[in-house]
Amino acid sequence: MSDTCIFCRIARGEAPARLVYQDERFTAFHDAAPQAPLHILIIPNRHMTNLNEALATDAGWLGELLLLARQLAAEMGLAEPGYRLVLNTGRQAGQSVHHLHLHLLGGRRLGWPPG
Ligand code: 5GP
Ligand code: ZN
Repeated sequence: MSDTCIFCRIARGEAPARLVYQDERFTAFHDAAPQAPLHILIIPNRHMTNLNEALATDAGWLGELLLLARQLAAEMGLAEPGYRLVLNTGRQAGQSVHHLHLHLLGGRRLGWPPG
């Protein structure tokens, strides 16, 4: 946990966010600047800068993160039309918040390749 990390503060309930899900491991909330009709961020409550820091021992919760994203997408009616999961990692990928987060985007046709 970090005192200054905005996503740690959201996970602890110290900074405001529109939460859609929370348990002891994960928090999901609406992105403040949505890029699609549905744009949710799913984070581990425990601070980790990005995927580069993950170890083999993190495989379990990383798998659970994907399954939680699938569950939230289904609950929001996106299973059939489809959705996109994005895990920006590092500078060239445009990672701007340095707490690992999975973007869940849906509700419109998403172009490929991304910009
Ligand atoms: P990145 O570019 O690091 O993959 O994505 C960071 C995302 O976090 C961006 O989509 C940005 O809009 C979102 N974001 C940044 N600060 C906040 C915040 O304080 N609250 C919420 N809800 N989203 C934020
Ligand atoms: Zn953090």
